[in-house]
Formats: sequence, structure tokens, C-alpha cells
Amino acid sequence: MDTKEFRRELHRHPELSFEEHRTAQFIAGELDALGIEHRPIATTGVLARIEGRRGNHQRCVVLRADIDALPVSEMTGVEFASQNEGVMHACGHDCHAAVLFGVLRRLQANPDFEGTLFGLFQPGEELNPGGARRVLAENPFEGYKVAAVIGEHVDSDLEVGEIGFCPGKFMASADELHFKVRGVGGHAAMRERIKDPVVAISDLILRLNTFNSDVCVVSIGNVVAEGATNVIPEVALCDGTMRTFDEKLRQRVKDMIAGVVEEIEYKYDVEIDMNLGDGYPCVENDKQLTYEAMLLAGSNGFKVVDLDRRPTAEDFGFYTHIYPSLFYRLGVGKESGRAHTALFLPDERALEVGEEFMTMLALNILNR
Ligand SMILES: [Zn+2]
Ligand SMILES: [Zn+2]
Repeated sequence: MDTKEFRRELHRHPELSFEEHRTAQFIAGELDALGIEHRPIATTGVLARIEGRRGNHQRCVVLRADIDALPVSEMTGVEFASQNEGVMHACGHDCHAAVLFGVLRRLQANPDFEGTLFGLFQPGEELNPGGARRVLAENPFEGYKVAAVIGEHVDSDLEVGEIGFCPGKFMASADELHFKVRGVGGHAAMRERIKDPVVAISDLILRLNTFNSDVCVVSIGNVVAEGATNVIPEVALCDGTMRTFDEKLRQRVKDMIAGVVEEIEYKYDVEIDMNLGDGYPCVENDKQLTYEAMLLAGSNGFKVVDLDRRPTAEDFGFYTHIYPSLFYRLGVGKESGRAHTALFLPDERALEVGEEFMTMLALNILNR
């Protein structure tokens, strides 16, 4: 099966995070057909392995593609549109998996490299706690020296043929925030008898808002206080997200939020349950690996684009804090539309670009 067909087959049968059973079965079957060794990983993932013919199999490169889809109803109207109503490959993970499959096919046909190549089809990128965390919990690369973990994401802000890089800090950490303020409710006119959770949570939200800056985001997107015009409720809730570009800052902001919560409890005589989540860490690209990849891309006819860091998150971040890692963006062109929408349709010409570059990059690192 060629790369495009592989992608379309995945696109027809998208599955939600950690439910990628059919997807994993399909990938495993296609790897079998090529005689590529593989095993299940993180329940619904697949870990493929190819040993180079030049020996030294202890050193390895890991190529990672995510394989999960989103709860979106596809409206592209293409022949290979989703047959799983309400679920769609709206983030391009079908493309990531197809590119990885294409790279594995090429290198299986001609394993002219030193070391071991792992192809990691990772489940559950879109859903906390993230498939990467589960993959790493299995310690699948124990006994190997991991030279690099490489991942990519399609990007409609870049044209087909363009590849975007950002050395160092690239994507944000993401933690979910949950607060539950418990006071004493009652008649809204009898203020002396209540401990008002609505006012307390309002103050809390305003205080949290002061954390917003160039390096940190604290946004509250859900507030619930189900009283009435004349009823103050017992409880008020709010939920939000926190993003940073630095793991130390991430911890520091969490500590500061805990401090604010304590102050609010004292000031309004209320109790606050808080859960500051344990989400995805920052994606921090290895600088040397990134510069080498940029050089390689540039000198082989790919158009290299310098990217700014992004406030979005990726569970690829987990790998970047353990192994030298690189996450880059593969251009699919503006016509592809926006990811996470019902009309997102990446330009398939990008598959060839992605496959060629990732193959070249893997060989470059393995044969270094
Ligand atoms: Zn996504
Ligand atoms: Zn994605």
C-alpha cells in the first residue's frame, strides 16, 4: 500500500484517543505485509523496529507519529471522508502516521544504516494524560542509547514544501485548572448570614488573570454558580488552562496560584478545592539536533522556515525532557484549512515531502 492510500484508509476510519483499536490493527497488518517487526505499545499503539545492516544496534533513533482522531463531524465531502460519524482526523494525525509508514517502508527496503530505527505509532495525543506518558511508562527504549526522538505536525500556515523549525523552547506546557469554592449560601438579601462563593470566585478569577504575560497564560473558560437573583449558592466552580514555556516557571506559577487560593480562602472565609492538573510539559527542541536538521533540509531543497514558539501544547513534550528531541512542522498549505475543524483537509502532496525529509533526517542521525 502506498503512503497516500495508507493515509486515506486511516482517514476513513478515525478513532478517538485511546480507542485506536482498528487503527492499530490496520497499522500492524501493513507492517506485517512489509515484514517489519512490531509490537503493541501503550495498549492501542504500535512500536515498529528495523535494524540497520551496518551494525551497532544499540544506538537508536525513534520516529514518532500520533494516530488518534477528534470528536468532530467531518464536512469535507471527500471520497475518503470519515465513516465513523462524529469522529474525524481533523488534526492531521492520519498524515503523520502515513508519513511514518512511508519512511519505514523505505528503510525496510534498504536498511543501509547503523543502529536501530524505531517507528512509534503513538495513541492518545489529544487527550490528557497523553499517550506519550503511557509509552514512556513502559520504558520501551531501555538498553538502547536514544540519539534522537523525532516528530512532526502538519501546518497550514506553511506551504507544501516548507518545513518549520524552532530551536529550543517551542511549545507550551498545558495544565488544566479546576477550582471549587464552598461558602455558605442563603437569601441574597441577608448578606450577614452568607459566605459568598460567587464574590470569592470572582476575586479569584481576577487575581488569576494577573498572571497573564508573554511567558505565561492563565485563562478561565468555565464559571458555574447556580444560584438565582435572590439565592446565593453554596458552591461556585471554575475551570481553565495554564500555559508556560518553562518547566521551572510552570511549577512557580502553580505555587503562586496556591498562594492566591489561600489568600482568597482567608479573605472570604470560604473553602477552596483546587486541582492544578498534571498536563503536558513544554516541547523543548534539542538545539543542536534542530540546527542540523535545518541545515540538512536547506541543503536538500526543502524550504526552511523559522518558527516562533507556540502557546499550544503537544504530549511530544514528554520525550523532549528525557531524550534529545526534535518536533518540526510540515507545510500543507493554506487551502488545507484550519486543524480541529470539520473542513480540515491537508494537501496530500505534503506526504511525499514529509516522507523524504524524515527518511533523510533519520539516516543522517543514524549514520552520523
Ligand atoms: Zn490536535
Ligand atoms: Zn495534532
